[in-house]
Amino acid sequence: MNVLVLNCGSSSVKFQLLSTDLDLISKNADRRLASGVVERVGSESLVSFQAEGGPKFRTAEPLRDHRAALDRILRWVVAPETAISGVRSLADIHAVGHRVVHGGERFKQCVLLDDSVIDGIEDNIELAPLHNPANLKGIAAARELLGPGVPQCAVFDTAFHSTMPDTSYLYALPYQLYRRYKLRRYGFHGTSYRYVAYRYRQLTEKKQKDVNIIALHLGNGASACAIKAGDSFDTSMGLTPTEGLVMGTRGGDMDPAILEFLHHREGLSFEQLDTLLNKSSGLLGLSGLTNDMRELLEEEKENGDRRARLAVDIFCARARKYVGAYLAAMGGADAVVFTGGIGENSAEVRARLCKGLDWLGLSLDAARNKAATGGKEGRVSAEGSRLAAWVIPTNEELLIARDTVRVVKGAPRRW
Ligand code: ADP
Repeated sequence: MNVLVLNCGSSSVKFQLLSTDLDLISKNADRRLASGVVERVGSESLVSFQAEGGPKFRTAEPLRDHRAALDRILRWVVAPETAISGVRSLADIHAVGHRVVHGGERFKQCVLLDDSVIDGIEDNIELAPLHNPANLKGIAAARELLGPGVPQCAVFDTAFHSTMPDTSYLYALPYQLYRRYKLRRYGFHGTSYRYVAYRYRQLTEKKQKDVNIIALHLGNGASACAIKAGDSFDTSMGLTPTEGLVMGTRGGDMDPAILEFLHHREGLSFEQLDTLLNKSSGLLGLSGLTNDMRELLEEEKENGDRRARLAVDIFCARARKYVGAYLAAMGGADAVVFTGGIGENSAEVRARLCKGLDWLGLSLDAARNKAATGGKEGRVSAEGSRLAAWVIPTNEELLIARDTVRVVKGAPRRW
């Protein structure tokens, strides 16, 4: 089956086209046929597409909404000059898998999209006001452009974390608030963590129930996840992605009383406070320069910028604190696994984050750590390190495509 995987953000549409099926999944022989992204949807959009083994296709053109962006993607995918083998018309796209950010308490696994599921995703807009509406736009656009005959599936970022115990997911607020509003920790990056756990299991030849790891998804959005006996046991993002680690533009954990303080002292409204927490804080807020880790590291190295160093140090210190907390919470682990743009590519951040952890048995191998970049996977801890460290580049799209196949074919699935 050719499965189109869509990841729609508020102003972007990312896609991958994969060839997969039940027999290919069991042989680990699924293939990526093409991938790409439309950025700045709604204005002069940047289009960047590539078929496997083909040249990069880049243009800038006005694409007014998600429907126009998807239409552009589909026209490129089926164009004769794109020459994707086995894809000549829209009829060669057999199913669509959507990354949906918030599934709330209702969606604990992926589902075939119908009107009731769409209503359910709408019900969770309150929990993910930026993300779920964009996901819904992608769903509507795919339905319109490919027709109702093409099955579509929703794969939720929150689903993997549905195994968390109540000691992890409940906030210590009056209990009736949980009952009334389902106010609790949900966690995100779930499909990424599921992939990392799956790949770690393959690489170490462990059984699922023997996977005890702390996974760190470090990208522009960043979170940590304690994976115990193969399941999510705790994670750092909460009701929304604002909580937890320091991120590109989010500050993560802080005293909630800061909001009231700023409301009084700066006269900020709740909307402005939300923007401050999510868009102006984190690496950007601390450094006053950029939310981009690579740029900060360069700034620190080349110009000795003090605040760039501070931002990176606080980013690493917070993540290190979570490693310690999760080791205690889950009663020990076998490995720390790095993923996400920063986790996969920055030996410097991995080294600074793990600094001083030798006492608990985590020692990096400097050469292995340096070599693990640009999509390479492998162990980066030293021989004999009691707590191992791995780099495993994430691949959420692969799992979304596989989930879609399983749903469409009615095959058993856990998520
Ligand atoms: P998103 O959360 O938007 O998916 P990514 O996972 O793509 O983000 O990660 C983007 C982050 O990864 C940026 O901060 C970028 O600077 C960082 N990054 C990418 N490559 C490197 C590198 N070689 N060294 C340091 N940081 C890097």
